[in-house]
Amino acid sequence: MARIAVLHKDKCNPTGCGDHLCIKLCPINRTGADCITKGSDKKPFIDESLCTGCGICVNRCPFGAISVINLPEELKEEPIHRYGKNGFALFSLPSPVFGKVTGIIGKNGIGKSTAIKILAGVLRPNLNNTDMPAEKDQKKSYDKLVEFFKGTEKQVFFEQVRDNKIRTMYKPQNVDLIPKNAKGKVRDLLKRADEKDVFDEVIQTLGLGNVLDNDITNVSGGELQRIAIAATVMRKAELYIFDEPTSYLDIKQRFIVSRFIRDLADENTAVMVIEHDLVALDYMADIINIMYGKPGVFGIVSQPKSARTGINIYLDGYMKEENVRFRDHMIRFDIRPPVEETRSNILTEWQRMSKKLGGFNLSADKGNLFKNEILGVIGENGIGKTSFVKMLAGMLKPDSGEPGVQTSLSYKPQYLDADSDDLVCNVLKEAVQNNSNDIVGPLELKPLLLKRLNELSGGELQRVAIAEALARDAKLILLDEPSAYLDVEQRLVLSKVLSNFASTRDVGVMVVDHDLVFLDYLSHRLLVFEGEPAVKGHAGEPLSMEQGMNALLKEVNITLRREALSGRPRINKSGSQKDKEQKSSGKYYYT
Ligand code: SF4
Ligand code: SF4
Repeated sequence: MARIAVLHKDKCNPTGCGDHLCIKLCPINRTGADCITKGSDKKPFIDESLCTGCGICVNRCPFGAISVINLPEELKEEPIHRYGKNGFALFSLPSPVFGKVTGIIGKNGIGKSTAIKILAGVLRPNLNNTDMPAEKDQKKSYDKLVEFFKGTEKQVFFEQVRDNKIRTMYKPQNVDLIPKNAKGKVRDLLKRADEKDVFDEVIQTLGLGNVLDNDITNVSGGELQRIAIAATVMRKAELYIFDEPTSYLDIKQRFIVSRFIRDLADENTAVMVIEHDLVALDYMADIINIMYGKPGVFGIVSQPKSARTGINIYLDGYMKEENVRFRDHMIRFDIRPPVEETRSNILTEWQRMSKKLGGFNLSADKGNLFKNEILGVIGENGIGKTSFVKMLAGMLKPDSGEPGVQTSLSYKPQYLDADSDDLVCNVLKEAVQNNSNDIVGPLELKPLLLKRLNELSGGELQRVAIAEALARDAKLILLDEPSAYLDVEQRLVLSKVLSNFASTRDVGVMVVDHDLVFLDYLSHRLLVFEGEPAVKGHAGEPLSMEQGMNALLKEVNITLRREALSGRPRINKSGSQKDKEQKSSGKYYYT
C-alpha cells in the first residue's frame, strides 16, 4: 500500500463545491478512468490503486475534505483496521509486556484509542477488509489476528487471549459516560467489581472512602475517574489498559494514581496506558510506543523504547532507528521571559479576604497580579478557586476584606457545554475578527468554523472555549483546566498562545490546571490553594515558581529535575542519589 486517500465525510459538501468538483478535476478521471466516483451516499469515493497522488483534489476541495498521503516507504504491512473505504487506517498495534507498564504517546486522532480497543477485545478489527462486516464470533476474530501477526510476539499474545489465558480489563477514556450506563451507589458498584478481594486497600489508596455512599450520578469528574480505575483494577486480569487515567485529577491525585498504576505490573501482569500528562506518563511507564502518522488519516505504532528515550524522541519529532521524521520541529521547554514586577504594572491587588458560601468557607491571603503575567493556580477541585477569582472580578462580594480594583473578567469553565447547536463561527466571531493570527491560527480553529458546537470532540470544544474566553474584552482571564482533552502537542501550542497573548496585552491570565509540564512551561508565579473540598479552601500569597512547586512537591514527597536534552520536568526515582540530594537541601523543584 503506497498511498492512502481519506475522505473526511463530515467536511464534504458535494453541492456546496459545485457538484463534486473533485470528480471533475481529477486528471485520472479526465483520461477516462474512474479514480474518483460517486459513492452510494453521493459522496466521492477515491480508488487508491488508480490515484497518483497529484494533490489536485486535496488542494482544490473548498472544504478541505480530502487527504491523500504517500505512506512511509518502510511501511510494509497492511492496515490492521480501516474505518471504511477512504477512512482512517491503523497500522499495527503496541505490544503489552508482562512485568512492565507500556505507555502510548501520540496526537489526538492518531488511533491510540482504536489500538487499545482492539487489544482489549472491545473492537474487532477488519484487517483492511472493509467490504466484510465485523467478525461476530470472538474466537474467529482472534484466529484471524493470530494469522495476521504470524511470526511476531503479537501472535503469541492473541493466541493466549483466544485461549482465555489472558484476560483484559480496560478503563475507557470517557469516564463521564459511566453514570449513563451504571446505576446505584458507588459502594455497591465497586463491591460487585471486587473479584480480587482488594476493596478496602484500593479504596484507601485511591482516596474514595468519602464517596462510597454517593449515587454514581452524584460524583465529580475526578471521583468518577478514580472509581473507574478502582473498578478496573478490582477485576481479575492479566492485562490492564488505561485510556487517559489522569484526566480530571488534581496534581496530588495524579501522583497517587500514577504510582498505583505503575505498581500493578508484575511477572503475571502487563499494563498499558495512554496519557498526555508527560510527567505522569514518564513516572508510570517503563516502555513507550510512539504513535505517529496524520490525525484522522492514518496511524503507525513505533518500536518500543525506554520511557525516557521514547518521550525525548517524541519531543524531537525524529526516530533515528526507524529513520522517520514525524514532525518538522523539535519541542523544547524554553525559559519564560520575566514580567515586570513593579507597582505601576500591577493589574489588581487584593487584601486578606473571606467568604462563606453555604457550608463552604473560603479565605485568601493578600496578593497581586501583574499585567502580562500568567499566574498558575494549583489546588484540589472544589476548593474555591473559581469563587476566589469571582471576588477579584467583583462578581462575588467577600464577607470581609477588599478585593481591590474591580477588574473585568473573562472565564472559561472547567466543564464545557456541548449541547448547543450554534455554529463555531458565530461563537468565535470576535476571535476571528481580532485575533486570527495569534489565536485562531495556532489553535487550528479554522477547519472547525462551519461545525456546530455539539459536533465537536472534547479537544475541539476546549480550543473553541479557550479562544472565546481570550477574545472577550476583559482584563482578567481565568481559564479553568484548559489542558483537558488536549494532546501533548496541543498543550504546548496552547502554552505558547497564552504566553504570547499575555505578553502583548495589558491583561493578567490565571490558569487553573493540573498538568505540571504545562503549568511549568507557562506560569510566572503560582497561587496555591489548600483545604478540604466542599468544606474549606485557602489561597496563599502568589509564590515564585520555586517556592510554590517546592511546597506542593514536599507534600507529595516527590522531587523533580530538568531533563538535560529537552528541558522537560522529570520525577526523580524515589531513593536515587538525585532524589536524596534534592530532599536534603529542600529543593524539591529544580531551579
Ligand atoms: Fe466537493 Fe470536496 Fe466533497 Fe469533492 S470532497 S465532493 S470537492 S466537497
Ligand atoms: Fe485524482 Fe488522486 Fe490527484 Fe486526487 S490526488 S486528483 S484522486 S489523482
